[in-house]
Amino acid sequence: MKTTLRTDITVKDICEGFIYYQLEGKGLFGLAGKLTIQPEYQRNYIYADGKKDVAVIESLLKGYPLGLIYFNKVSDEKYEVLDGQQRITSFGRFVTNKSVFTVQTADAEEKGISNCPLCAIGHDANKLRIWKLTEMDADHVTAWSKGGATDIKNCQLLCKTHNRAKGNK
Ligand SMILES: [Zn+2]
Repeated sequence: MKTTLRTDITVKDICEGFIYYQLEGKGLFGLAGKLTIQPEYQRNYIYADGKKDVAVIESLLKGYPLGLIYFNKVSDEKYEVLDGQQRITSFGRFVTNKSVFTVQTADAEEKGISNCPLCAIGHDANKLRIWKLTEMDADHVTAWSKGGATDIKNCQLLCKTHNRAKGNK
């Protein structure tokens, strides 16, 4: 097997069009759809324990090296992650959630309602509550299996309580 060292692919490139599939707990795609992050045979995302994922983000923000990531070139414009899917899923989730959070919170503040859409339509004290990013989790509006769109518009953040309640349905 021929191995080529690529230093031109950035974290930003990989996060472009990043898709996380919540039901199966997998990062699915990145690199504007050219990269399959966790193919069928890969284990699910196991870094979401609030420790390993945080460690990845912290070292990234400090400018520490991520370590080598291996892609298997499937065809001209298609790659699969051979090694590094946990790291990629960690920063992909972070970047996606952060941008969704910014938009959703600005919108809620303008309307004077909670930034959790389900709290906002509720009848208790949380109706007006602005949650922090760390108090929320991503929810995919349309499940992937139902043909949900593959971009950020298909993702919203809910407070952890509502996210958990929805996940159990
Ligand atoms: Zn809520």
